[in-house]
Amino acid sequence: MLNKLNVESVDVKGKRVLVRCDFNVPLNDKQEITDETRIVAALPTIQYLVNNGAKVILCSHMGKPKGNPVPELSLAPVAKRLSEKLGKEVVFAADDNVVGDNAKAAVAAMNEGDVVLLQNTRYRAEETKNVEAFSKELASLADLFVNDAFGTAHRAHCSNVGVTEYIKPAVAGYLIEKEIKFLGNAVNSPVRPLVAILGGSKVSSKISVIENLLKKVDKLIIGGGMAYTFFAAQGKTTGTSLLEPDYIEYAKKMLDEAGDKLVLPVDTVIAEKFDNDAPSKVVEGNIPDGWMGLDIGPKSIENFKAVLADAKTVVWNGPMGVFEMSNFAKGTNEIAALLAELDATTVIGGGDSVAAVNKAGLGDKMSHISTGGGASMEFLEGKDLPGIVALTDAE
Ligand code: AMP
Repeated sequence: MLNKLNVESVDVKGKRVLVRCDFNVPLNDKQEITDETRIVAALPTIQYLVNNGAKVILCSHMGKPKGNPVPELSLAPVAKRLSEKLGKEVVFAADDNVVGDNAKAAVAAMNEGDVVLLQNTRYRAEETKNVEAFSKELASLADLFVNDAFGTAHRAHCSNVGVTEYIKPAVAGYLIEKEIKFLGNAVNSPVRPLVAILGGSKVSSKISVIENLLKKVDKLIIGGGMAYTFFAAQGKTTGTSLLEPDYIEYAKKMLDEAGDKLVLPVDTVIAEKFDNDAPSKVVEGNIPDGWMGLDIGPKSIENFKAVLADAKTVVWNGPMGVFEMSNFAKGTNEIAALLAELDATTVIGGGDSVAAVNKAGLGDKMSHISTGGGASMEFLEGKDLPGIVALTDAE
């Protein structure tokens, strides 16, 4: 459970409430939003505040303008889309200083239930350095602070951490609460058996996740490119597959320590080139010279399904193969389809597995899809997230 105050624990009526959202949405070259997931995820908190008579001042970063007012990274398109979603005007406080005269005037003119969106907080170089002056400027606009940006909760910036020094209380929004509830319960108080599935390209980027999860799970399934370093540790040949030689010893140690808790692929879809149209075949065990593993094979899929069949909680991070190429997407898609049918809490934590589940059209069949790639990874590593730690304790 999240032991922090939430939006319902404070009286918001008539108050100026600064809400840190994660509106870091992808745009195309015409500055059109190509995926509104994060905007939709922010709506419950915004709607609650509007309905309860708050003056709602929204802020977020978008992309990496690196302290410059880069017009292509303006939040103006977000204000427009948000207005459509809420069915009411969201005033965009266009202001290269974020908290400049325009923003101050827009806030001063607010009535209860009004919504203002500030400009991209990363237009200010201080933002990512958590500099006091900008935190104070943000805080000066409001009486209360709500953090609902799970996607940046693993960073300590002005708009999610610094600002909490100057506005109290600082409370959690519904999205942060939901993320922590699902990820937290899954990892710390799961209904068992708990099975984690890890995939993606590298062992090196997921070592802390592997170590933390091994302490908690009943089974840890490993697929994707990271499996081949484990193959090498088992003494198998890996051809031209992704391999991190520096981590083979580490993988051996993990295999020794984890025993049958670790479940690895037994067969592999291999190809001669990293190309969707390259001739491919399935091999068991060794991967021959000149061939690379690009997906888990059919026996591995069956084995993984057997392990998952009685799972009551599943956490998944990282694809089982190069799912971006249709000929090597089967392992990932079959796991996604199985999770969609499973009578279990299914939590999709981060990045490419989210993309894979959505691509398969199965997003609404999962219990929870995390909106924060990096933040959910750090959570799975067992780290405290500064954006959450900074909020006011419930008791
Ligand atoms: P990550 O960001 O570490 O979660 O890795 C995700 C990426 O891993 C995706 O772009 C996949 O295409 C890639 N990936 C998964 N399996 C393989 C593989 N067998 N060979 C090369 N890349 C892979």
